[in-house]
Amino acid sequence: MITGIHRPATVRVNLGAIKQNIENEKKHLNPGQKLFAVVKANGYGHGAVQVAKTALKAGADGFCVAILDEALELRNADIVKPILVLGVVSPEYAPLAAANDVSLTVPNLEWLKEAEKYLQKEDLQLKIHLGIDSGMGRIGFNEDDEFVAANKFLENNDSFFVEGMFAHFASADSADDTYFKHQVEKFRHMKSLLTVHPKWIHVDNTAASIFDKDIHSDIVRFGIGIYGLNPSSNPNSPDLKADIELKPALSFVSELTHVKTIHKGDGVGYGSTFVADKDTIIGTVPVAMPMVGFANSAVLR
Ligand SMILES: *Cc1c(COP(=O)(O)O)cnc(C)c1O
Repeated sequence: MITGIHRPATVRVNLGAIKQNIENEKKHLNPGQKLFAVVKANGYGHGAVQVAKTALKAGADGFCVAILDEALELRNADIVKPILVLGVVSPEYAPLAAANDVSLTVPNLEWLKEAEKYLQKEDLQLKIHLGIDSGMGRIGFNEDDEFVAANKFLENNDSFFVEGMFAHFASADSADDTYFKHQVEKFRHMKSLLTVHPKWIHVDNTAASIFDKDIHSDIVRFGIGIYGLNPSSNPNSPDLKADIELKPALSFVSELTHVKTIHKGDGVGYGSTFVADKDTIIGTVPVAMPMVGFANSAVLR
């Protein structure tokens, strides 16, 4: 994709705000709690490598991404802290992840068995986080039997290091706690089935952390908060007051490239979905393929 550098559409990313947001969250953590910066989807569109390097300066302990290629992008940028891929990676790439010290999410027992074959061939050990579907309805274990079998499979298994176990909340951003509590209970139950001891047990996303949901989580997977946005489904609700200050990091700047007057009955755009009902001044603003600029200052023009 090409970037339009000869026109005025620009995305400005304030890395100073990103650093401040992470520092604010760091101060809010419980003693010993770690912060993993979630930089999936190109750092929520802000630039994964730039955000990750800023997060390191602010004291991030590790990173979460969605796909293996994003993890490799960070490794290629000389980032050495732990990286967890949250999505399902095909088992044939387990050795590639292991060779790059990237941790993968385990969605089920079958995945473990497949990955083991590939790892044994190359005599590699992979760091894994057991994914639990506690009610998000996406990837992870949700049946006791299968989870118990996976636990047994992992006992004394040199192909894997059980670095974590985690679940993801569907509604930590809601003032109604009913479903959240149901998810917490399911997660506790699944944890009680384990005899292997994951190094980190983690459930917190931005919302669970900043709305003080008060549930044990060794790591906060801090995503949307990095970028300065409040995840609340209702930011005005007093039940969901964010404990920390967040400053939006992205701004979009453009300029009018064309201004003119149209008359009553004139249409605008495909399908003429807007029709002027009187003489109207209209302007054209370029938005596609913007340039991306990074700044460290907390104040932007
Ligand atoms: C995206 C994601 C996060 C980060 O969530 P935020 O609400 O952006 O903080 C945490 N955990 C998982 C599994 C995710 O997919």
